[in-house]
Amino acid sequence: MPNAIVADRAGGPGVLKFRSVERPAPGPGELLVEVSGIGVNFIDTYQRSGVYPVPFPFTPGGEAAGRVVDVGPDVTGFSAGDRVATAEGARTYAEYALIPAAKALRVPDGVDDETAAAIPLQGMTAHYLATSVYPAKEGEWALVHAGAGGTGLLLTQLLKSRGARVITTVSTDEKAELSRGAGADEVIGYDGFTERVRAITGGGADVVYDGVGKSTFDGSLASLRVRGFLALFGGASGQVPPFDLQRLNSSGSIVITRPSLAAFLLTPEERAMRASDLFDAVLADRLKVHIGGVYPLADAAAAHADLESRSTTGKLVLRP
Ligand code: NDP
Repeated sequence: MPNAIVADRAGGPGVLKFRSVERPAPGPGELLVEVSGIGVNFIDTYQRSGVYPVPFPFTPGGEAAGRVVDVGPDVTGFSAGDRVATAEGARTYAEYALIPAAKALRVPDGVDDETAAAIPLQGMTAHYLATSVYPAKEGEWALVHAGAGGTGLLLTQLLKSRGARVITTVSTDEKAELSRGAGADEVIGYDGFTERVRAITGGGADVVYDGVGKSTFDGSLASLRVRGFLALFGGASGQVPPFDLQRLNSSGSIVITRPSLAAFLLTPEERAMRASDLFDAVLADRLKVHIGGVYPLADAAAAHADLESRSTTGKLVLRP
């Protein structure tokens, strides 16, 4: 029998156990994939810990890449041997996973297994943030929190390719160097970041992309110019508490959104457009994917502990 990660209850990383499970069989619309790489994402930790409720026993994972080994009865367009990846799967912390054919991305030759597993979720998130949520323009100032994180490194590169000027926050010197390598114009620490941003930009950033949440949110609001835009896309430090809308008025007629990836993958065309933009950029060497850690699947708990301890850079990938 193949192996997978299973949690019987919500809790710390230690609830993630490596176990034998039944090999899944593809139903209508599904691909059975032999998984070659699994992307670790913050949402996996929210689900494991109970921040986002899930039914137990629970196998985490929405992102993976691999090779199709079988297809469901009505599936057309995919066959055994095809290389695929997804950001919208379920139970992907496994040697075999079912991926909805409608949500499978075709992985081009030339993109290796780890990169294919690393791109879909954070890559398409960075893509929709930079091109759809707030399409930053030439010369505009963008503040990106956690600039050396998986999403932060990709978002910085996409914003730079649009001609925006990018300020990032990071917590260590090593992270600062990585963020500069991704093209950030200014890399700063979290202490007093609002004043630094206002000084650098001469009046406030045009847009803040904030995936850190609780600990940065107030400072993010105060870092914006009048009529600036705040994209709150996550809560790595904790979720932002309920918010009084009057604060938008007193902060200078600010616009805020709290987007999620699913709303920016509404049609097959939209999904394919984002994926091909990203894969093309990787193949053309215009986009670097920094994989900061590769763990055996059995060590998923260690990957979660590292991600939550704030010690990681770029993307973490599990290998079955
Ligand atoms: P990262 O690789 O960016 O890791 C999170 C980073 O956040 C850390 O490395 C750390 O960088 C920073 N951070 C600041 N405070 C804390 C804290 N208290 N605990 C942990 N980390 C902290 O993760 P991802 O790229 O996977 O995700 C980033 C955010 O984006 C998450 O909030 C995630 O939920 C969100 N997200 C949202 C999506 C959406 O569609 N809305 C989709 C994908 C991700 P440093 O040490 O430099 O501060």
